[in-house]
Amino acid sequence: MADQPKTLENLLTEDRVFPPTEEFAAAANAKPDVYEKADADYLGFWKEQALNRVTWFKEPTVILDDSNPPFFKWFSDGELNVAYNCLDRHLDTIGDKVAFHWVGEPGDTQDITYRDLHERVGKLANGLKSLGVEKGDRVAIYLGMVPELPVALLACARIGAIHSVVFGGFSSDSLADRIQDSSCKVLITGDGAWRRGGVFSLKDVADEALKTSPSVEKVVVVKRTENDIAWSDKDIWYHDLVADQSAECEPEVMNAEDPLYILYTSGTTGKPKGIVHTQGGYLTSISTTHDYVFDLKDDDVYWCTADIGWVTGHSYIVYGPLANGATSIMYEGAPNHPGLDRLWQIVEDYKCTIFYTAPTAIRAFMKWGDEHVTKHDLSSLRLLGTVGEPINPEAWMWYHELIGGGKCPIVDTWWQTETGAIMITPLPGAVDTKPGSATKPFPGVGADVVDEEGNSVPWGGGGFLVMRRPWPSMLRTIYGDDRRYVDTYWSRFENMYFAGDGAKRDEDGYFWLLGRVDDVMLIAGHNISTTEVESALVSHDAVAEAAVVGRADPVTGQAIAAFVTLRGGVEGSDELLAELRNHVGSTIGPIAKPKSIVFTADLPKTRSGKIMRRLLKDISEQRQLGDVTTLANADIVQEIAAKSASSSED
Ligand code: ATP
Ligand code: MG
Repeated sequence: MADQPKTLENLLTEDRVFPPTEEFAAAANAKPDVYEKADADYLGFWKEQALNRVTWFKEPTVILDDSNPPFFKWFSDGELNVAYNCLDRHLDTIGDKVAFHWVGEPGDTQDITYRDLHERVGKLANGLKSLGVEKGDRVAIYLGMVPELPVALLACARIGAIHSVVFGGFSSDSLADRIQDSSCKVLITGDGAWRRGGVFSLKDVADEALKTSPSVEKVVVVKRTENDIAWSDKDIWYHDLVADQSAECEPEVMNAEDPLYILYTSGTTGKPKGIVHTQGGYLTSISTTHDYVFDLKDDDVYWCTADIGWVTGHSYIVYGPLANGATSIMYEGAPNHPGLDRLWQIVEDYKCTIFYTAPTAIRAFMKWGDEHVTKHDLSSLRLLGTVGEPINPEAWMWYHELIGGGKCPIVDTWWQTETGAIMITPLPGAVDTKPGSATKPFPGVGADVVDEEGNSVPWGGGGFLVMRRPWPSMLRTIYGDDRRYVDTYWSRFENMYFAGDGAKRDEDGYFWLLGRVDDVMLIAGHNISTTEVESALVSHDAVAEAAVVGRADPVTGQAIAAFVTLRGGVEGSDELLAELRNHVGSTIGPIAKPKSIVFTADLPKTRSGKIMRRLLKDISEQRQLGDVTTLANADIVQEIAAKSASSSED
C-alpha cells in the first residue's frame, strides 16, 4: 500500500545499532544471562535482590502477597528502615566517601560525606520529633535543590513520617492542593530558591498556600537566599530547630508495606494523582535498577540532573544512589546560568562518569549550539541516560556523539511516577542499543504490548503498553482514593497494569515508546503516533524540537498540526516550511505530512519539562484555553496561539 505509513523502526538503518564495546561488556554489572534467570523465576529474582541488597531488621519470608489484587504487597512480613539502609549501614565502610558534591547556583559548593549526611539527618529527624511529628504523619516539603532537601526526605524516612515533596516551582494553588489532599502536619520550605540568578520566594508562595491549608501546624524554614519574608508563630528556622538536637536518632522499625512517601504525578494529562510508595519493595527495585542500569562502580561520579521534586529525583538522586553508596553530583540551579555551558563545566570540574538527564534538556542543548559543549573536556563520561519522554533518534545521536564522544552507551529508561523504578531500559554491556528505543523490559518486569482486547500484539506491531506482572516498587494506591487507583490502572485490561502509553515492538523484541495513548492521531483511517512525526521533524538538520497534535479536520477526521523550534541560528521561512513537510512525507509517508507548521521559539511545557500537547490541541482547534498556571512557560502559549491563527495551510 503506497500510503501505508512506515513505522519508526524503518527510520533506522543497519549502522544505527550500537553494541557495547567488549571492554564495557566484560566489566558490566549486568550479564546477559540475568534476563533468562529472572524470566525463569521472577519471584525468585526479586527475592534474591531483596535479601542481597537490603539490610532488614527482620528478613521477609513472604515475597509477593497477591491475595487481593490489584492491592499487591511485597515482602510484607519484612521490617526495615530506608534511611538506615541509605546511611547507617555505610558508616563503617564508606563513612568518609562523598555522598553529594553539591553545587549551588551562585557558585558555592559543599562536599557532603555519608557521615555528614547521617549527622544532618539525625538532627532533623529529632527536630521533627520535637515538633510532634510521628510515624505515619504526612510532611510536605517545598524546597529548591539545596542539601536540606535530601536530608528532609531521609529524616522523614528515619522516623516513619510520610513525605510529600512538591516541586519548588509550583504555584501556591498547586502546593495547597497537594498539602490538603494528604493533610500534611508540617511543611518544610525555605526563604527562597535561586533561579537563573534571581530569587524565587518559596516562603511567599508557602504563606499563600497555608491560608487554605489548616492541617499544617509548623513550618520549618531553610535559610538560603536571605530575601525578606513574612514570619508567623508557626514558623521556625531550620537552623534553630536542629541547633541543639542530637545527631543520634534511633531509626523507626517499619513494616515493608508502610508508606514511605506520596508523590503527585506531573500533571501532563490533567489533575495530579497522589501516588503512594512503600518501603521494602521500593528499596529493592530502585537499588537493583540503579546498580544494573547505571552499571555503578565504587569510583563513579554519578549525576542525575532531575529535580528531587519529581520521582526521578526521589529514586535516582536520593534513595537508589544512597542505598548503593554512590557519589553523586547535585546541582541547585538552571542549566543556562550563568552560561549555556554550566552543566558541562560541572561535568569537567567533577570528572563526572555517569550522566542522566531528560530529552527536553538534550533538545535545549541542541538548540543552544554545539560550541557550549565542545569547549569542555567531557572525556570522564562513560555512560549516559535519558528519562521523561521518548527521545527522538536524532537527539539520541547528538547526545551519543557530542556528549558521549561516540563511546558511551546510552540507557533510554522508560518508567513513571507510578512504577517507582525503571521498567524498560537497556542494561549497558548486555544489550545492543538503537537510537529512539528503550529496548527491553528490565529483568523480572512483565511488560507487554497488547491490542484493544488485551491480546499480545505480534512483534512488529503497536498497541497499549501494559505490565502483566506486579513488581516490587509498584504504586500501592492513589492516596485516599483506592477506587481511582483501580479505575485508572487496572480496569482497561483484566489482570494487567495499564500504563497509558502506546508502544511498538520491533522484530528483535525491542520496545519503542510512542507517547500517550490519548495523543495517538487517526489520520484517514491510520493510527499515527505523535512521537513518530516529531522524530521525523527532528531528524531534519534545521529542527531542534517539535510537537505534533491531531486537530479535527472535516476531510481526514484529524489533520496533523506541527509546532517546531529551530536549531540555534536557523530562521523560519516558507521554503523551510515546505521542505519540512516534504521531509516528513519522505521519511514516514505522504499521509504523515503535517497540514500546518508553526515555528515557535519554545513549546508549552510542564514544570518537569514535558511538552503539553493537550494545550497545543486546544490552540489548533481554536478552543478556549484551559488552566495554564501549571506550565513552566505560560507566555509562550499566547504567542503560539497568535501565530497559529495566522499560519498558512494548504
Ligand atoms: P500525569 O500522569 O499526571 O499526566 P506524567 O505522566 O507526565 O503526568 P510522570 O510519571 O513523571 O508524569 O511521567 C511518566 C510518563 O513519562 C510515562 O508514562 C511516559 O509517557 C513518559 N516517559 C517517561 N520516560 C520515558 C521514556 N524513556 N520514553 C518514552 N516516554 C517516557
Ligand atoms: Mg502519567
